[in-house]
Amino acid sequence: MALIEPRPIIIGNWKMNGTSESLGEIRLMAAMLDGVAIGCEVVVCPPATLIRTVHEMLSGSRIKTGGQDCHPEPQGAFTGDIAAEMLRDCGATHVILGHSERRHYHGETDALVCRKVTAAHRAGLTAVVCIGETEDERDAGQTVPVVARQLAGSIPDNVSAENTIIAYEPVWAIGSGRTPTTDEIKQVHQAIRDQLAERLDPQTTAAIRILYGGSMKPANAGAILAIPDVNGGLVGQASLKAKDFLGIIGLFAPN
Ligand code: PEP
Repeated sequence: MALIEPRPIIIGNWKMNGTSESLGEIRLMAAMLDGVAIGCEVVVCPPATLIRTVHEMLSGSRIKTGGQDCHPEPQGAFTGDIAAEMLRDCGATHVILGHSERRHYHGETDALVCRKVTAAHRAGLTAVVCIGETEDERDAGQTVPVVARQLAGSIPDNVSAENTIIAYEPVWAIGSGRTPTTDEIKQVHQAIRDQLAERLDPQTTAAIRILYGGSMKPANAGAILAIPDVNGGLVGQASLKAKDFLGIIGLFAPN
């Protein structure tokens, strides 16, 4: 059976940015994409407070909505936390998990991320699982082993191309304006694909999307998105403005 190339996806991570005043950008995104052919899937992940509103504003558009984290349990005495089922209830279809900012500021381990991925699947969400090395780890030549360890520990066995996306995000590239070279990105994405092949059947391995994230913007996205095994991007800063975000989305030939 021929292996199918995955459809690329661009996911915007608004992080802790955005109040109702920012909804104009969402309105603009929907208007700019209205009736325009696009060559990728698009997801916007606003802060939790805006998910339902953004979802409702985007109904009828092709832009989906996602969360930025979830709790492993479906409900309970976990003050301040949000269950995957709650994200789903607000209209989310995706959830970013294991972002380096969650790992760093909230001490999230691979094991916890794995439980959250299982929770996302339980709720019918696609988990966007983030992995990536710090600058010290890169300087020590540990990029591939670090990413391999995170991947091994952060995804359960039953992942599919529908329920899971992997995002390679070098920690030192996030928000810094710096990116790895295209050869470095290619090497890590290939290593991730090879590792997936050890756990998954060939169809699933080929179909799982591996995104690059870290200072992606319209000016550098074309070169990054053309790298083999890069199936889209996880975009922070450049997803906050409709013009920048659509500048990346528009790089894919419509299909
Ligand atoms: C991110 O936080 O996932 C990210 C990629 O951020 P930025 O694009 O701003 O580097």
